[in-house]
Amino acid sequence: MTKDKLTILITAGPTREAIDPVRFLSNKSSGKMGYALAEAATEAGHRVILISGPTQLDLPDRVDFIPVESAADMYDAVEYWIGKADIAIFAAAVADYRPVSVPDHKIKKTSDTMTLELVKNPDILGSVRSSFHFQGVLIGFAAETENLEDNARGKLERKECDLIVANDVSRTDIGFNTYKNEVLLVFPDRTEKPPKDSKHHLAHVILDKAIDLQAP
Ligand code: C5P
Repeated sequence: MTKDKLTILITAGPTREAIDPVRFLSNKSSGKMGYALAEAATEAGHRVILISGPTQLDLPDRVDFIPVESAADMYDAVEYWIGKADIAIFAAAVADYRPVSVPDHKIKKTSDTMTLELVKNPDILGSVRSSFHFQGVLIGFAAETENLEDNARGKLERKECDLIVANDVSRTDIGFNTYKNEVLLVFPDRTEKPPKDSKHHLAHVILDKAIDLQAP
């Protein structure tokens, strides 16, 4: 028996990993896919908890917005909110590494070279089943430059997802910072390829799949 109004947690945007008080490491994620998903979910009457790194985007109406900066902040926010969610969709482009230490002053350009030592960030999506014991529908994204379907299927299994939305980021016409996207939907028992479409329309397609998974 499905509930009419579901709570959908969405992560979106890039993370920023501080180097010093005024500098950071980040990536090219615009946040468009995650925000399109948030908009599609509120349009369909669901409650949305949007946990987002910094973006230039307007906030969709009626979302519970949890702004974060770093992967560590995003991890804490997801750990706090995930228990409220029926469906969780991880569209954020989380930085894989962060600087080992962050001085409290701006780093001076005194030497000709400088080395930044990085340490791995926690895998937030990978913690959702194993550490946060989430039992709802879990959807991840995979941005790949090669072996799209195989890599996505590996992620589906390792991170115990119900669906991985995979896109080829080596193409400039789709993916990061673009309006349109072409994705593979990788499920445990099959792969589907919806036609290339706007992120807005794909968001509705992905949301419909999530709701089907929630109440088959
Ligand atoms: O392992 P990879 O980074 O390619 O996996 C991508 C998926 O995992 C995306 O859904 C992304 O939001 C999520 N992820 C995460 N925490 C990380 C790295 C990725 O939640 N530290």
